[in-house]
Amino acid sequence: MFRDAPALRLDGLTKRYDDGTVALQDFDLEIPSGAFFGLLGPNGAGKTTLISAVCNLIRITSGEIDVFGEPHDSVTARSWIGLAEQDINLDRFLNVRETLVYHGGYFGMRREEAERRAEEMIEAFGLQAKRDTRAPRLSGGQRRRLLLARALMHGPRLVILDEPTAGVDYELRQELWRYIRALHAEGTTILLTTHYLEEAEELCEEIALIRDGHLIARDTAEGLRDHFGADRLADVYVKAMAS
Ligand code: ADP
Repeated sequence: MFRDAPALRLDGLTKRYDDGTVALQDFDLEIPSGAFFGLLGPNGAGKTTLISAVCNLIRITSGEIDVFGEPHDSVTARSWIGLAEQDINLDRFLNVRETLVYHGGYFGMRREEAERRAEEMIEAFGLQAKRDTRAPRLSGGQRRRLLLARALMHGPRLVILDEPTAGVDYELRQELWRYIRALHAEGTTILLTTHYLEEAEELCEEIALIRDGHLIARDTAEGLRDHFGADRLADVYVKAMAS
């Protein structure tokens, strides 16, 4: 039977930084196409390194990364990935509309297409009143929304969200999750890191726990609770990280 290539396949991924720090060691992971997948682990576990490697932002030491069956550093694979980084890295000289249109340009969208899509994003993320406002004049919540809108501009098949709700108030968190759930319902694969374990428990179909550059466990929230004999994912996490 025909099966879609996994959205992400990491095979023996190792990353050693120039100072000798090994952030990921012989790491294997497969994320099925269409999954809502959570990557959990304490600070320093290697999550951002993993994401940076997938997005070709850092050079990997060894191993292979495929995105929907294509090498991660190919133009095709890169066009399939949308990344919303943990840091709010918006260009302070661009307004909301320009931020989106320029991003579309990086991904080879024609001007009219990028402008049309930018309008769609502005509407979807409730930024109409701010379309001509530059990033430094946006509120924290508006910047987060713009970051997500920008990641989605080029219609990626795999959306990677690195702590999208860090430091975000309750209402905006709910709102961001509504967007992300809707994306997932349309078939987009979501890879998420978060320190909000209840969110991961509720949203993610599967969860990988990582520590010190190694995969500790990978299962559904229910499977993890059973395996670790815990009632809540938070207890699973504590047990897994202490083991
Ligand atoms: P996480 O995102 O899970 O907090 P990171 O991937 O940021 O983890 O970090 C994993 C390990 O790699 C940590 O020990 C961190 O100090 C180290 N690290 C991250 N970036 C660099 C870098 N540019 N140079 C050296 N070490 C780094």
